[in-house]
Amino acid sequence: MNADLAKNYSAPADCLADRVILVTGAGDGIGRAAALCLAEHGATVVLAGRTVPKLEQVYDRIEECGWPQAAIYPVDLLGANEQDYQSLAESVSSLFGRLDGLLHNAGELGERTPLANYSLASWQKVLQVNVTAQFLLTRALIPQLEKSVDASIVFTSSGVGRRGRAFWGAYAVSKFATEGLAQTLADELEETTRIRVNCINPGPTRTRMRATAYPAENPGTLKTPEQIMAAYLYLLGPASRDVTGQSLDAQ
Ligand code: NDP
Repeated sequence: MNADLAKNYSAPADCLADRVILVTGAGDGIGRAAALCLAEHGATVVLAGRTVPKLEQVYDRIEECGWPQAAIYPVDLLGANEQDYQSLAESVSSLFGRLDGLLHNAGELGERTPLANYSLASWQKVLQVNVTAQFLLTRALIPQLEKSVDASIVFTSSGVGRRGRAFWGAYAVSKFATEGLAQTLADELEETTRIRVNCINPGPTRTRMRATAYPAENPGTLKTPEQIMAAYLYLLGPASRDVTGQSLDAQ
């Protein structure tokens, strides 16, 4: 496919009408912008995340704007176990009867230090939140995604998930794993289901995580989350129906 298609996508106003899409890390940064943008384009958004007041703010904003009523699902990707993900899937099933989109957005940066000094605790935390939680959440939700006529799973990668870089430690390793998880799943689901699976690399974006990673950078030079939404709309909407196993750039 044309690599620029996604980032230059011009989404019809109602392109996500009648779709139910779950977004992790929906209370802040890129996930917050995505939740609002998806709702604006007609989706019913399940706001998943660990800080409920932030999710409530997004919920209220969606309501104020008159977009489809959202749902809040509190989940801490660090501590959740298999049963917690099963309960989440049962809630989605009983509320909506299916899931049309799953945006794995939440992420943990971890330490920025040489691997020679990298702590086991930080390593395990990053891999739990960025990889294992995504596997467990996806596994629990596949039966709901199978009920959709046009389901899309989007994983969030990074430049350091394609080429490793000094001091990015477990974060870089976790993003390589994310790419591998997406490719493996895409290959498994392609012949037997209508679920497509792709990765998105947001690129440098003005968020709390970026400011933590690059404290000396002027945030004013970066795109805001709201400015990179075209590729998210493309991957979660009908325009990408035949696209699977790809890793795309949002900018
Ligand atoms: P932010 O730090 O702004 O937001 C991260 C989100 O993930 C927050 O909503 C946070 O919740 C949530 N989160 C973190 N840990 C957990 C957890 N244990 N359980 C549940 N939710 C959790 O980061 P960004 O918006 O920048 O990042 C979004 C994604 O984009 C990440 O996957 C990141 O790796 C990726 N990315 C970002 C880039 C950038 O330049 N910003 C570049 C490349 C990739 P809470 O608000 O409660 O802390």
